[in-house]
Amino acid sequence: MKKILSKEVHICDACGQEGYCYVCVGCGVEYCYDCKKTLMADYHHGVCGISDIDGYFCLKCNSTPPPKVKDLLHAYFVIKNLEQEGWSKDFQMRSKVAEETVKKIRKELGL
Ligand SMILES: [Zn+2]
Ligand SMILES: [Zn+2]
Repeated sequence: MKKILSKEVHICDACGQEGYCYVCVGCGVEYCYDCKKTLMADYHHGVCGISDIDGYFCLKCNSTPPPKVKDLLHAYFVIKNLEQEGWSKDFQMRSKVAEETVKKIRKELGL
């Protein structure tokens, strides 16, 4: 049997490779794992550990975020700073607030 199927595939916008891609939340550009390493900034949602709602920003959106993701990028920044800062008295509380902020903004953006 011969059949023409149309299927949706993800193609890396940098090298053209087909496969799993990381999508920039700012502009929707997609990069494969290898290109992501040099062309994207990734942010962890969880201050301690991994999470399924990490955010990826291409370098362009990372330096000048489109208005709609400005708050989200800022929220990720707060988490990044907390990661570097390490433990302090109110660390856990602030981590929780920072993580909730990311969650809330992502929800508003429908991500
Ligand atoms: Zn690529
Ligand atoms: Zn982008």
